Amino acid sequence: MSKEKIYIFDTTLRDGAQTEGVNFSVDDKNKISKALSKLGVDYLEGGWPGTNTLDTTFFNNSPDLGDTILTAFGMTKKTGRSAENDPGLSALLNTQAPAICLVGKSWDFHVDVALGITNKENLEKIRDSAKLFIKNKKEFMFDAEHFFDGYKQNPEYALNCIKTAFDEGARWIVLCDTNGGTLPNEVGEIVSKVSKFIPGKNLGIHAHNDTENAVANSLTAVLAGVRQIQGTINGLGERCGNANLISLIPLLSLKKTFSDNFEIKIKKEKIKTLTECSRFLDEVLNRTSDRRAAFVGASAFAHKGGLHVSAVSKNPKTYEHIEPSLVGNVRNIIISDQAGKSNIMSRLNKYGIKIDKNDPKVQKLLNEVKDREFVGYSYDGADASFELLARRLIGEIPKYLIISKYDVSVKKETNNEINSFAKVHIIVDGQEIICEGSGNGPVNALDNAIRSNVEKVGKYSKYLKDLKLVDYKVRILNTGTNATTRVSIESTDSKGKSWFTIGVSPNIIDASFKALIDSLHYKLYKDKAPANN
Ligand SMILES: [Zn+2]
Repeated sequence: MSKEKIYIFDTTLRDGAQTEGVNFSVDDKNKISKALSKLGVDYLEGGWPGTNTLDTTFFNNSPDLGDTILTAFGMTKKTGRSAENDPGLSALLNTQAPAICLVGKSWDFHVDVALGITNKENLEKIRDSAKLFIKNKKEFMFDAEHFFDGYKQNPEYALNCIKTAFDEGARWIVLCDTNGGTLPNEVGEIVSKVSKFIPGKNLGIHAHNDTENAVANSLTAVLAGVRQIQGTINGLGERCGNANLISLIPLLSLKKTFSDNFEIKIKKEKIKTLTECSRFLDEVLNRTSDRRAAFVGASAFAHKGGLHVSAVSKNPKTYEHIEPSLVGNVRNIIISDQAGKSNIMSRLNKYGIKIDKNDPKVQKLLNEVKDREFVGYSYDGADASFELLARRLIGEIPKYLIISKYDVSVKKETNNEINSFAKVHIIVDGQEIICEGSGNGPVNALDNAIRSNVEKVGKYSKYLKDLKLVDYKVRILNTGTNATTRVSIESTDSKGKSWFTIGVSPNIIDASFKALIDSLHYKLYKDKAPANN
């Protein structure tokens, strides 16, 4: 039996751009659309040309998207104007985009309140607009805004709206849950009824996530007949976002209910790039990736409890619904307070450290980790610091540069500027090297003192030259003046791999310094720098 195709329609660059704090540049749009066409989405909605310079510029010079169909978004014609004379529609017609997705009303309440026109006038807007694009050989889709709310209130009119567009020759009728308040059972029921009038192969779903049901609603709609899903990468979108394609794509491809009956254009080997794709969008937006994201989050396959870990080491299926590599993610064994030896062993294994589990050093490491967690360390996200600690205890790490002392000061200048200065004494091969630096804060000054004087640290210079700090996070662990500070640092180098280190202290500068030194030491270890004599 041949499988039915589900079309993936990406609207990250149009509906996703409505997210608070998201402002794509033309360059971002180009980069993202290339990544999405590489992934293999069927349609890519690039924006609303003619309404803003950014989208117009993007459509004027849109990148080559291979077999992904570039789609331009717009709105049905203005009331009291012919479709031919509507400048908004002309702007869409004039783009190179082969497909047009036009939003229009299908809820009589909106026709009356928002547009202030008659139901009949709204149908004319839909009919005339559809006619224009079909006459001009564009692939035409009608986004029926608020379709589900409209159907609940006046099913006959909601159906009339979409039938009008379909009868003119629309390729797709997209049923939108614009307010995101419809529940899966309602979606299933309504789509089944609608598919008696419009074949499922011409129906799409556009779900918003206001009740955390956008993914469930999209899947239910497929089971009830629709064959196109609209969504965004990482569920970007206004309010609570749109249906998340990063979850929908693996669900359609890897879960039997769907994979036995349906197929998508995105092949299995491309599904393995989903984690990368999700993080790439975060990187473009300069956002921290959601650790708890389904499928692609750093915690999606992380195991913490001792019992879970020992079972996972026997067979990962015990606590994993899919193999992480199928979506390009990795299993992560977390060391925690509940950790038993099996956690430690799994983690040592991951770093290629060979040691017998009954070796007293393993117990020593476990005790050390527990003691450190008690004072506020958390090695959950600090792989590099954990690896250093383990290798040091096992005796695999030589001494690298030693910081004998440091001095940090903060000054308020007469012009109200606040400056910080740091002086660090470093010992390399018995020689004391003094590095000084300034910065906008004490930690910045400390970091600058070491890294802007990197050519002074003798044999270690060449290893530390390309070290870069990418992220710095401070967390206060308990309130009051006796608060403990936990600092995490993400570092990277010219090889592009990043590592995470941690420092804990009642003093924020000391905590930062510990995380910073771990980062330097990890880099020296990783690059096989010689020992300090
Ligand atoms: Zn929307």
